[in-house]
Amino acid sequence: MQVTNKDRVFNHIPPAMIALVLAFWAFGPKALLENPWTLAVTSPLIVIIVLILEQVHERHAGWRMNRREFFTDLFYVVLSATVIAWLTKTLADDPLAAAKASLGITTQWAKQMPWLAQVALVIVLIEFGQYWMHRLMHNWTPFWLTHAPHHHITQLNAAKGAVGNPIELFLISLSVVALFDLEPTAIFAALNTLGVISVFAHANVRSDPPRWYSFFFTTIRHHSLHHSTDYESTRCNYGNSLILLDRILGTYREGESVVVGQGDRKRLSIREQTMFPFQPMIDAYKARRDKARSASEATAA
Ligand SMILES: [Zn+2]
Ligand SMILES: [Zn+2]
Repeated sequence: MQVTNKDRVFNHIPPAMIALVLAFWAFGPKALLENPWTLAVTSPLIVIIVLILEQVHERHAGWRMNRREFFTDLFYVVLSATVIAWLTKTLADDPLAAAKASLGITTQWAKQMPWLAQVALVIVLIEFGQYWMHRLMHNWTPFWLTHAPHHHITQLNAAKGAVGNPIELFLISLSVVALFDLEPTAIFAALNTLGVISVFAHANVRSDPPRWYSFFFTTIRHHSLHHSTDYESTRCNYGNSLILLDRILGTYREGESVVVGQGDRKRLSIREQTMFPFQPMIDAYKARRDKARSASEATAA
C-alpha cells in the first residue's frame, strides 16, 4: 500500500507524544508537577487524544468504536483508575514501602541518578515484571483464566488495554517500584510514557512508528498479532510496552492481525468477564447438582 504524507505524520505521533510527556514532567510548571491530581488527568487524557486520532486516521473499519464498546471500555477505564489503583496501592505498594522502611533498606543511589535514567529504570522495572506475569498467564491455566477475557475482545481501540477481568487487572499492575527511592516526577513520566506506548499498541490508528521505535517499544502490529484468534499465535509478544524484552527473551514474533478474539470470537459482557475465572467451577458444580437431582428423581419414580 502506498504511504501517504498523512501516514508519515501519523507514524511519528507515538514518539512525538513520548517526547511531549517527558518534556512536560521534566520542565512543566512546578505547581502542576507537585499536584497529586495531575497524573489522574494526564493518564486519561492520553487515552482521549488517541481515541480522537482513531477518528482522524482509522486502521481497520472492523475495529470502529460503537456505543456498546464505548460504555464497556469506559467502565474498565474508570475501574482501573479507581478500584484497581486503590487495591494496588493498599495491598502491594504501601506494604512494600513499609517493609522496605522497617528493614532499613535505602536506595538513595537511585535518586542520585540522572532524571532520564530514573525514568528508564522505572520503565524497565515495571515492564520486566509485567512481561513475566503476562507470560505466566499464557502458560498456566489458573492465570490464563484471569487473562482470557482480555483476549475475548473482538476489536481493538485506545481504551482496550484497560479491559479485562479485575483479578488480571490487579495482577498486571503489580511492580517493585516502591522499593526504590526515586523522584516522583520520574515515576509519573515513566507511567505516562508506558501509557502512550500501550494505548497506541491497542489503538485503531493507522500509525506504524519508525523502526528505531518498534525495535524497543510495542506497536499495534506486535500487539494485534498477540490478540490473534488462534491460541498458539497469542503466545508471543508479551511485552506490554517494551517489545525489546521479547526480542531478548526469545518470544518475539513478526506479523500483524486484523481479525482478533479468542473463543470463536465470542464477545463477553462485563458480568461474563468478571465471572470467567470461576466459570469452570460453577459449571462443574451445576453439572454435579443436576446429576444428583436426576438420580433422586429416578429413584422417586
Ligand atoms: Zn495476552
Ligand atoms: Zn491487549
